[in-house]
Order: sequence, then C-alpha cells, then structure tokens
Amino acid sequence: MSKFWNELVQKLDPYVPGEQPKDKKYVKLNTNENPYPPSPKVVKAIKQAVNEQLRLYPDPNADELRKTAAEHFQLDPEQIFVGNGSDEVLAFSFMSFFSAENPVAFADITYSFYKVYANLCSLSPKIIPLNEDFSLPVKAFCEPNGGVVIPNPNAPTGRGVSLSEVKEILEANKDHVVIIDEAYIDFGGESVIPFINDYPNLLVIRTLSKYSSLAGIRVGYALGQKELIDGLNRVKNSFNSYTIDRLALAGAKAAIDDDAYYQEMAKKIVTTREQTIERLQNIGFTVVPSQSNFIFASHTEVDAEVIFHELRDHGVLVRYFNQPRISNHLRITIGTDEEMDKLIDALKLILKK
Ligand code: PMP
Repeated sequence: MSKFWNELVQKLDPYVPGEQPKDKKYVKLNTNENPYPPSPKVVKAIKQAVNEQLRLYPDPNADELRKTAAEHFQLDPEQIFVGNGSDEVLAFSFMSFFSAENPVAFADITYSFYKVYANLCSLSPKIIPLNEDFSLPVKAFCEPNGGVVIPNPNAPTGRGVSLSEVKEILEANKDHVVIIDEAYIDFGGESVIPFINDYPNLLVIRTLSKYSSLAGIRVGYALGQKELIDGLNRVKNSFNSYTIDRLALAGAKAAIDDDAYYQEMAKKIVTTREQTIERLQNIGFTVVPSQSNFIFASHTEVDAEVIFHELRDHGVLVRYFNQPRISNHLRITIGTDEEMDKLIDALKLILKK
C-alpha cells in the first residue's frame, strides 16, 4: 500500500471492544455484562416475535418500544430515540450535536468510545483529567465547552456524579448539548431523567445491555426534549431507517415492562459488589468506590498486568487498561457469587506466590 493510503487508514483509530474469547470457557468478568439471564417475559416475547413477525420488516420508528419507554419514564414518545445499542445512539449524538467549532469535552479517563468517535468525526475533543481520586472535576466542565459527555457512573472507574453536580454542569453549558450516559445508572446512581423537561440541553443515554441483561440484542436509547430527539432522527434517517430488528424490539419492550424482575437482580449485583470490595480489600487491593456493576482496583504490591495474565491462566478474565494514568488498575465486572468466589480463590493463589 502506498504511504498516502497507509497514513489515511492509520488515522482511523477504531474502538476496540472487550474480548469475547473462544478458546475455552472463562469466568468472564471483562465486559460488564449482567451475569444473570434476562426476564422470562423477555424470552417469551422474543420467541413469539420469532414465530409471528420475522417475515415482516420492523417498524422504522420503533413506536411501541418508544411508547413503553415513555410511559416508564413519564415522558412523551417523541422524547425517545432508539438505536442499535447505546454505542449507535452515542455515534448519532456526536454527529448531530458536536462539531470542530464546538468541541465536545469529556474526561480522561472515561469510556474509550467517546475519543474514538470524536476523532472519527474530526471534533478535536477537549479532554479534562479526572481528579487524583478519580472523581469528576466539576468546575472544569463548567468552563466554556462546545458540549459535554459524561457517563454517570463513569467507566472504567465506577464513580458516580451527584445530581447537584450534573445540575451545575447543565446550568453552565446552556448553549450546548450535555450528554449524560447512564449505561450503569441502575446499580446505585441517581438518574437525571427527571431534569429533562427543565433542560433543553440535556440528552440522557441508556442501554439495555447491562441492567436488562440484553447485550446480545443491541438496544439503547436517548431521552431528551423533542428538539434534540428530532435532531437525532434527522441524522439517523439519512443513513438507515430500519435500525432495530423485530426480535430486539420485542425483547426490549418486554424488558422495560418487567422492571420489578430487574430491580431484584440489580439489588443482588450491588450486594455481591459490596462483598467483593471487602474481600479484595482484605487481600491488599485498593478499590475505587463503585456505583456500577464493576469495580476498579489496584494491588498495593503486585502489578495489575501480572495479575491480569495470571488470572487468565486460572480461567478468569478481567480487563486490564494499559493507559498512563490507570496502568496499574484492573476493572472487574461483578458476576454471580460463585464466579466471585472463583476470582478471589485465584487471586489468593496468585498473591501467595
Ligand atoms: N456507555 C458506556 C459508559 C459503556 O461502558 C458502554 C458499554 N461498553 C456503552 C455505553 C455501550 O453499550 P451498548 O452499546 O451495549 O448499549
């Protein structure tokens, strides 16, 4: 390939998703999936859709799903935009609301997709370092920005921001879109959805991949005032109107309808998280306070990269981030109690060496 083409292609820096290994069965604690199955009502709805609807094109407007989500969050269906996973909703949001003149601000460190997308859209993002304890430097997000994206709680640290802090950021960025990515909000955070009707600049992004245990069907959505949602629809319709397939629409609707099932599951995950934090601290780990279904930890004596590789040899997969500020940290998804027992047993063997 010529130098020209090589340079052109090298600039396209892709998002690298967490590993989905095929070599053997791991205790898989590396991609923040839910360890429990989706609601039986979801499975039933998908089976029914297989039998009755596969012949037909899906509804390009996802009307029923938007209506269900709107009722659940006490909004209007026109305040909901549905996409193929929240990654796609984020991608449309970046394309719709940010520009090189209005560079989006986000933290270092945060969900790595933001940087990839900002670069692909030539946005020259403004990157704001987190505080030493990984909390959000709220004041820096209140300085002039061309837009803001904040996951609450943050990934990969698991730290949340309070409602009053989000309010401060919304007030200071009235002329630009503020995206709050609530992928992990149901594991102990405070949602800003009740602010939507007061803030035309607020766009909240949700996913069914974590809390609803439906990473396999790829559904995410955005909530905001009608004008912002209309902006997203315009961009989406320029590409492909049939974004969500019928099985995903049926499963997602049933999941939102069966919130009681998921609330119990989230409670269980939070209990396991708190027990795991204590067990990790007992064997020499420092753990960042978490409001999500994962924890961010480093060991006082043993290097995270070494632990990561040895855990893999023991059949336990976690995430190791090889970035400057966090190179000595592991991100560990909360699994079932049995899976966390296996993690702790493996760690004890590794640390004894
Ligand atoms: N936001 C954050 C903060 C995430 O960690 C993830 C999952 N990797 C997503 C969005 C995307 O989730 P999905 O595309 O599965 O909806």
